[in-house]
Amino acid sequence: MVVSTEKMDGIVSMSRADLTAEVEPGVITGELKRRASEMGLFYPPDPASSEFSSIGGNISENAGGLRAIKYGSTSNYVLGLEVVLPTGAILWLGRHTHKGVVGYSLKDLFIGSEGTLGIITRAVLRLIPMPRTTSVLLVTYSDASASASAVKGILGTGILPSALEFMDRASLSAVSAYRGTEVFGEKAGSALLIEVDGTEEETGKAIEKIRAACREGAVSMEVSHGPEAEGLWSARRAISPALAKIRPFKLNEDVVVPLSKLPELVSGVDRIAGEMDLRYANFGHAGDGNIHVNLLYDEKDGGEHERALRAVDMVFDLVIRLGGTISGEHGVGITKLAYITKELSPAAHELMRGIKRLVDPNNIMNPGKAL
Ligand SMILES: Cc1cc2nc3c(=O)[nH]c(=O)nc-3n(C[C@H](O)[C@H](O)[C@H](O)COP(=O)(O)OP(=O)(O)OC[C@H]3O[C@@H](n4cnc5c(N)ncnc54)[C@H](O)[C@@H]3O)c2cc1C
Repeated sequence: MVVSTEKMDGIVSMSRADLTAEVEPGVITGELKRRASEMGLFYPPDPASSEFSSIGGNISENAGGLRAIKYGSTSNYVLGLEVVLPTGAILWLGRHTHKGVVGYSLKDLFIGSEGTLGIITRAVLRLIPMPRTTSVLLVTYSDASASASAVKGILGTGILPSALEFMDRASLSAVSAYRGTEVFGEKAGSALLIEVDGTEEETGKAIEKIRAACREGAVSMEVSHGPEAEGLWSARRAISPALAKIRPFKLNEDVVVPLSKLPELVSGVDRIAGEMDLRYANFGHAGDGNIHVNLLYDEKDGGEHERALRAVDMVFDLVIRLGGTISGEHGVGITKLAYITKELSPAAHELMRGIKRLVDPNNIMNPGKAL
């Protein structure tokens, strides 16, 4: 049986006084963000899929996205949930207030549970006042390790950007091929896209300080303010569809490493792809150590898919060795099931299975997923 919450798409209420919204799970995230901004409010979680993913899906995957570096992931904005348990019981978990510590935080058990514990039918979300404006800086470097090292300098300024995105050479050239014009300049071997938000005065000063921190080794720098920055953002958003220009298929892994290990991750992926004779593209949320490693392949090309699968295994081993996680925001689903014991201890894994058995004794909710 398939249960769809797609048509449960009502925004029940939105309060500027309480800084909350109560919504049904089928509300599209981008729509909630727009409605909030009309009231001068901000719902920060910003997965790149926000124009077609839903609040119920975002909560179930604990979606992160571009602004997680400053504002955190979806879990930071869920105050309360109505859930229907597999037994048919309807429960309210959490609360309508911004704080509350009575009892275990059961709503947090449902956040990121990938639909394995129950159906979310309503959510109370935290909103914050809308930042006045944004400024964006695009810096290109000759290679990926220069960008990865620059992240340390940026965060060392004491300013927390509202986005800090990384793109490697393959990502940049894919976007240029997709657009049919050189977008980043021929000498660009990697790029960082850095956004700061606040008042005009704050963002102006912050972007200058960050520009100074990025200068060493930079090939080019470009600053944009307010809505003008959309051009820079649209290049970043074009990466996913553009990669199909290089190879028709990809294994997209959203690994995370401690920030100090980013250069080692980038060089390690390069070595693994070389050994497996694969093309790849790395891009993503460098500011929180979350890089989308895309191993590209063509099913028609003998053995390339198998080599890509072997490379995924090696990338996961590398990430665990660096103290990271095999998924920062996409979750486990089915395709990562085989790898979760690389990360979870047997005791933690068994405790999770015990919780699943308790809440869903007949294993009817997304059986075979996540655990
Ligand atoms: C181009 C692209 C870019 C992306 N960028 C990002 C990104 O930047 N950050 C990020 O975190 N993710 C990203 N994603 C991944 C994906 O969009 C997110 O995981 C998103 O949260 C999924 O939401 P959805 O509404 O599509 O959920 P679905 O895919 O429909 O569902 C996801 C899971 O949640 C369960 N579920 C859905 N609704 C409910 C409910 N009401 N109750 C219980 N379980 C439910 C489903 O059973 C399923 O297991 C991206 C995906 C694409 C295709």
